[in-house]
Amino acid sequence: GTTGASGTGTAAEIVKTPATRPAAVEVHDVHKWYGSQRVLEAVALTVRPGEVAVVLGPSGSGKSTLLRVINHLEKPEIGHVSLNGELIGVRRHRGRLKELSERAILAQRSRIGFVFQNFNLFPHLTVLDNVAAAPVATGKLTGAEAREQARGLLARVGLADKAAAYPRQLSGGQQQRVAIARALALRPGVILFDEPTSALDPELVGEVLAVIKDLAGSGTTLLVVTHEIGFAREVADRVVFMDAGRIVEQGPPEQVLDHPRHERTRDFLSKVL
Ligand code: ADP
Ligand code: MG
Repeated sequence: GTTGASGTGTAAEIVKTPATRPAAVEVHDVHKWYGSQRVLEAVALTVRPGEVAVVLGPSGSGKSTLLRVINHLEKPEIGHVSLNGELIGVRRHRGRLKELSERAILAQRSRIGFVFQNFNLFPHLTVLDNVAAAPVATGKLTGAEAREQARGLLARVGLADKAAAYPRQLSGGQQQRVAIARALALRPGVILFDEPTSALDPELVGEVLAVIKDLAGSGTTLLVVTHEIGFAREVADRVVFMDAGRIVEQGPPEQVLDHPRHERTRDFLSKVL
């Protein structure tokens, strides 16, 4: 109505709410070097809640290092990362950045899922226990709750019938699907994938990409390093192209993949397409 400014739920307010939600991942001007080698230079990247970002780039361009910085496995020389608005590895104290305790870092890391090229399953644990282990170890669920959740997650990745198997009894594609179920078990705010299909035989790539695509469709926030351009085109909200430690360009897939602005992007795409 027109009776005053105190009315609730105007269209303007409703539209404003999503923009004020913190980014799922925000990388602020990150520089990382090993000795004299610059591995990341002035990298800035925002992944919004529910967004799927795909990172492309030649070998050695810094993609894995970027994921490792986001997951606290590496500390940048300059810059910082925040997750859901909370600084990673540091907190503000009277305007200064203070490092977090190891315990606080572990708590933050438990909110990030990480899926590696080589699956990294626990070989001595069954598939079910691989998926159930972390929520128990971190005190989030009891053993019975974690196993029940694990059964649900295994069904979600199409492996309900493999709960009692050991990793070595599975194909690479199945192992990677278990690794994805394991990453989901801590209900992370974002899942980072580092070339999840690069170690797979070609005929097994599709089943893993299908599971990732299903997660993307369900609104999970994903940051995926891959060379699968078709997947990027179909699933990504945003494609990020890196070269020599820098983000060269980023944007919607139709822009970066079909109308790249930079020569280096065109050159890379001509080699992988
Ligand atoms: P990408 O994943 O794009 O292939 P990386 O992030 O693995 O690239 O590596 C980027 C560069 O950093 C490479 O030149 C690599 O040799 C170097 N690098 C990565 N990790 C280390 C490390 N722990 N020590 C020294 N150099 C490293
Ligand atoms: Mg890599």
